[in-house]
Formats: sequence, C-alpha cells, structure tokens
Amino acid sequence: MDLKCPTCHNPLELTGTHGHCHGCNKDYALRALCPECQQPLEVLKACGAVDYFCQQGHGLISKKRVVFVLQDV
Ligand SMILES: [Zn+2]
Ligand SMILES: [Zn+2]
Repeated sequence: MDLKCPTCHNPLELTGTHGHCHGCNKDYALRALCPECQQPLEVLKACGAVDYFCQQGHGLISKKRVVFVLQDV
C-alpha cells in the first residue's frame, strides 16, 4: 500500500486507521472500501491484527485488496 498526501504528495506514514503527513504535519483518516462494491468495510481488530469484512456479501477482504481513501480529520 502506497498512499500519498493529496496536498504535498509526500508518502503518508500509516498507523492503522490514520495516515500522517510529515510535510504538512497533518493527519488523515483512512476509510477502507470493498474493491468489489466500494462500500465501507467493517474493521475487525483481533490480537493486533486487522481484518476487513464486507457486509454486502463479499466476506473477508485481504488488506492488499482493500481500497483506501483519505478523509480530512
Ligand atoms: Zn502533506
Ligand atoms: Zn463488497
């Protein structure tokens, strides 16, 4: 996963559900969307691991397939 700051295009440092830009000193919320239906995924946290689950019938989505979008916080 390689997300860039929409303002200065520095790579974001990702911390779970947030991305931080060192260039702008700004945090972004990460929203996880299903690659099949583009609906928000339910985030399941267990023992330090994070799983993404689509409630629209696509089941568990591996992190590699999750579509992340940035939101201002
Ligand atoms: Zn930035
Ligand atoms: Zn889905």
